[in-house]
Amino acid sequence: MKILLMTAHPDDADIMAGGTMARWLAERHDVSSAIFTRGEKGHDDPSMTSVRVAALREAEQRAAATALGGPRLMYLDFIDGELDWAGAALAEAATRLIRQERPDVIVTHDPFAGAPAYRVPQLHPDHRAVGAAVVDASYFRAPGPLYYPAQGAAGLAPHRVREILLIMSDHVDHVVDISSVFDQKVRAVREHASQFGRHPDLEGFLRGLAARAGRPFGVPLAESFKRLTLS
Ligand SMILES: [Zn+2]
Repeated sequence: MKILLMTAHPDDADIMAGGTMARWLAERHDVSSAIFTRGEKGHDDPSMTSVRVAALREAEQRAAATALGGPRLMYLDFIDGELDWAGAALAEAATRLIRQERPDVIVTHDPFAGAPAYRVPQLHPDHRAVGAAVVDASYFRAPGPLYYPAQGAAGLAPHRVREILLIMSDHVDHVVDISSVFDQKVRAVREHASQFGRHPDLEGFLRGLAARAGRPFGVPLAESFKRLTLS
């Protein structure tokens, strides 16, 4: 199975689906993680520059990926914090990547989340923007030959995605048991030291997240998704 994760920032996929990635990789599936920005604004120290943050986070992301079993990493180099202004370019890039990579399954942000829970991760507009662009591209742009004929002329055939798993969703209906790979997930998230280096109990936080995700499904430690079946 070919799986493509499409998320806004370094660490999004590792926190929400790192265990699932580790399981897929252990099962020898083809797993790629495309990150739309370098997360270059994600630092609290005003003496840092975006260029330095981008380099730091790229190294962290590489180490995290190694901890999970080595998904292929790709960057689309949109501007951190400005994805919801990227409109047409974002739609085109999402469609192009899907046609290039031709995944069976896509993992992305839930663009529909928000009400009624208004969970904090959904407050970041980059998450909503990537989710919307990727879901739209999967549903009708990538499979439609009349969308972006220049991509077709460049040899990128239309592609139909079978299934989308939405992270950060308020409408969860699918969980993956990550009990056997939980330690790998903790190691991966810990590699994002610029984001979590000062967390007093990162393992406890991730354990609580996984336990809460699994409880309604009778799974000890889980990652949860909203599953959309497209074909
Ligand atoms: Zn994010």
